[in-house]
Amino acid sequence: RHYNFCAGPAALPTAVLERAREEMLDYHGRGLSVMEMSHRSPEFVAIAEQAEADLRELLAIPENYKVLFLQGGASLQFSMVPMNLLGQGGTANFLYTGIWGKKALAEAKQLGFAVHMAGSSEASGHTEVPTQAELALSSDAAYLHYTANETIGGLEFDYIPDVSVPLVCDYSSSILAEPLDVSRFGVIYAGAQKNIGPAGLTLVLVRDDLLDQRCQRIPSLFDYQAVAEAGSMVNTPPTYAWYLAGLVFQWLKHDIGGLEAMATINARKAAKLYAAIDSSGLYSNPIALRNRSRMNVPFVLADERLDKPFLAEAEEAGLLNLKGHRSVGGMRASLYNAVPEAAVDTLIDFMADFEQRRG
Ligand code: PLP
Repeated sequence: RHYNFCAGPAALPTAVLERAREEMLDYHGRGLSVMEMSHRSPEFVAIAEQAEADLRELLAIPENYKVLFLQGGASLQFSMVPMNLLGQGGTANFLYTGIWGKKALAEAKQLGFAVHMAGSSEASGHTEVPTQAELALSSDAAYLHYTANETIGGLEFDYIPDVSVPLVCDYSSSILAEPLDVSRFGVIYAGAQKNIGPAGLTLVLVRDDLLDQRCQRIPSLFDYQAVAEAGSMVNTPPTYAWYLAGLVFQWLKHDIGGLEAMATINARKAAKLYAAIDSSGLYSNPIALRNRSRMNVPFVLADERLDKPFLAEAEEAGLLNLKGHRSVGGMRASLYNAVPEAAVDTLIDFMADFEQRRG
């Protein structure tokens, strides 16, 4: 297997894929694949419950939070969050630190909800997140939404905002990268396809007391309360993605040793790549040191004409998906949990070699 730096769908741990392959045709002697099981069968219900229990353990999720396994991606949460939290009125407040946060605000607005920008990194060109002191919520704020890690810009919050309204966070690209104090949040959501599992599954953690804030006219599939009551099985859930997410949680627990251990590895991977970029004359990253993402490392080459050869040679060296997002160009190395440290070492060696030859 090559080293995959894709921003999403992202690399999965090889050990997880191997286990899935072993269990693919005949799951635990049942004579069928997980893909072919009824979601209501005792076998699948056990898989689903184990996945939730492992996730609760990994993130130390308090009892008063529901864990929902949904579809529609993180993008559907841009609409579901206001539909579920603004039933009693009030304004959705947003911190704007990049493309995903902007989309979240736009979706709430599109549905006719009142929105307010409570902080922005726009003036810095999205290189520095607003500080706690700079946050200015509207007086009728129902919640504050922010994006923990902006996947495209490579901009990550270095603090959890301290506000008097429920905090809603899009954790799509950094959940499970380190321990997290879930009790600080009203809602956390994440598309699975970075640190959780394959695309097609979306994770939502919601605090119990927020379950009765929904708008009256809400489709039952979008209704957190209805989904929670049905154990995330209002309709057929993405069973295979759920199963694979469960294998990833097992891998984090048993192979990695939990989120503290994962955080140590992630910090090391990011630190060495940023150090390589900072010490080079060819590569650069503009983000303020305190807000540099540990998951997504964007960088540009001093001479744009070298982009194509850089990518072609990287691919030849087995280093895949280093092209930056189409909206910003340049390069981006995503260093999610499943990207091994050896991948980062190989990338750094390649970058140094390329600079020596072409820089
Ligand atoms: N939010 C963040 C931070 C993301 O990185 C992404 C996708 O890359 C999304 C939202 C959109 O996720 P989805 O494609 O699951 O809707």
